[in-house]
Amino acid sequence: MRSHYCGNITSAQIDEEVTLYGWVDRRRDHGGVIFLDLRDREGIVQVVFDPDTKEHFDRADKVRSEYVLQVKGRVRARDESTVNPNMKTGAIEVLGKQLEILNTAATPPFQLDEHIAVGEDVRLKYRYIDLRRPEMLERLKLRSRITSSIRNYLDGNGFLDIETPILTKATPEGARDYLVPSRTHEGKFFALPQSPQLFKQLLMVSGMDRYYQIAKCFRDEDLRADRQPEFTQIDIETSFMDDEQIMAITEGMIRGLFKDVLDVDLGEFPRMPYAEAMDRFGSDKPDLRIPMELVDVNDLMQQVDFKVFNGPANDPKGRVAALKVPGGATISRKKIDEYTKYVSIYGARGLAWIKINDMAAGIEGLQSPILKFMPDDIVNQMMSRLDVADGDIVFFGADKATIVNEALGALRVKVGEDLEMLDKPWAPLWVVDFPMFEENSEGNLTSLHHPFTAPACSPEELAANPEKALSIAYDMVLNGTELGGGSVRIHQPDMQQAVFKVLGIGDEEAQEKFGFLLDALKYGAPPHGGLAFGLDRLVMLITGTKSIRDVIAFPKTQSAACVMTDAPGTADNKQLRELNIKLREKPKAE
Ligand code: ASP
Repeated sequence: MRSHYCGNITSAQIDEEVTLYGWVDRRRDHGGVIFLDLRDREGIVQVVFDPDTKEHFDRADKVRSEYVLQVKGRVRARDESTVNPNMKTGAIEVLGKQLEILNTAATPPFQLDEHIAVGEDVRLKYRYIDLRRPEMLERLKLRSRITSSIRNYLDGNGFLDIETPILTKATPEGARDYLVPSRTHEGKFFALPQSPQLFKQLLMVSGMDRYYQIAKCFRDEDLRADRQPEFTQIDIETSFMDDEQIMAITEGMIRGLFKDVLDVDLGEFPRMPYAEAMDRFGSDKPDLRIPMELVDVNDLMQQVDFKVFNGPANDPKGRVAALKVPGGATISRKKIDEYTKYVSIYGARGLAWIKINDMAAGIEGLQSPILKFMPDDIVNQMMSRLDVADGDIVFFGADKATIVNEALGALRVKVGEDLEMLDKPWAPLWVVDFPMFEENSEGNLTSLHHPFTAPACSPEELAANPEKALSIAYDMVLNGTELGGGSVRIHQPDMQQAVFKVLGIGDEEAQEKFGFLLDALKYGAPPHGGLAFGLDRLVMLITGTKSIRDVIAFPKTQSAACVMTDAPGTADNKQLRELNIKLREKPKAE
């Protein structure tokens, strides 16, 4: 047994005999004395072998990077001249007395401190080596502290940790399902859960009252940066609590977590209706650390003789909005071109701008390619509405409202980051009053959240005016990232049927897909609601990492593959036969 972790030895252990286990981080031969940096989960300690212990000294001479050792020795203070204040164990060293080589190691594919040079694919292929890096270890340790803080809070508040099936039926959360063929039921498939949504609702029907689970979820989404096909949710459901109470209890959890692991006091989270978030920030997850807002100029642009602007301004589904960047007149033409390209990702067909060089000079003091299309009094009204000052730049978006919101919303964040405008480290909020439905590209209504979310109106009102209906849903947002979201659920079959109807899910289809839920709602379903937090994203925010892969021990690549195990792999013919699966011939390459 170890007596101490390498990284935990300090001056308090001076003169103690210690037994350590670890990996050789570095070995140095200083003319007759061998220095080994021995590394374990908690850090590195320097071990010195001198020729007095010949047998062990000779072994120390043989070890190489990443060999696995047991070392026994005595802790002593370092010479003053060799004290390393940058190292936790830098004031001491261990005088080695015994050394056992527990295992040798081939030359690693990369040195731990050279991981940047090798690229992520190599790091992922040899993930077990990558995870030896202190940075990675620290992230996973913090992740474990995070789940532990959350469990403590939820356990303390009477939540039961209950597992739900992985082999199950489709639960719609807006992504494609991962399917698993059944051997015992020919031609049938299980779906991996996109979330435990329906099971947690059924647990409420069973009277469990408060449930949580740190649950794996699976979504076969199109390749998008920084998504993982399998990810972890902190999944929560409660009975007999309304939206305010659910928000209060989960806000308490996140506040407690930040206090526990970062000693940060997040304070009380403000609320913002969805419509206001879209108007002011072009986003349903606004980053409130950035002190800039979108401002509507629809009414003014209806009057200009410039189609790019007056078209959307007169279109009920259009929007013309302005984003004032204080001090942004220094942004170069080249940078504006880059921003134009950036907003085109979101469908914007251009990025108009006005620089304010000298307000005192009136129109003459403005610089812009679009001024010639606008009457002076409109320009003046706009400038006073935006309350501009010398040195500002104003960007414009004019298109369908969805495009303008997405494009200017994203530009706001990008410019805010580029110009280092963040005015606080943490900005949490709740976004509330979401619409029940949104229109997809085919013009059909789909659930904004999921079809089990309760509307804030009666079934009759819902049927009469589905586009206008709001839901009792809430998202927790932190620094522009959606940390979690949930809703009060429908607990009465007639309301559930009304929602399915709006979604174009007929009775037969509803029965086939969700009959078990509709049945359960008939047998005394309590009012209930909950939410789910994305654990990976939460850990990213707390650790300040940029990539979701850096907070997951064994992540998949962006193309949803594992380069270490080489998954997904092929199945042999016997397996396929047992599953009654015949692969289609691949079309011959032209
Ligand atoms: N099931 C939802 C989701 O995965 C969360 C919830 O409504 O509780 O997003």
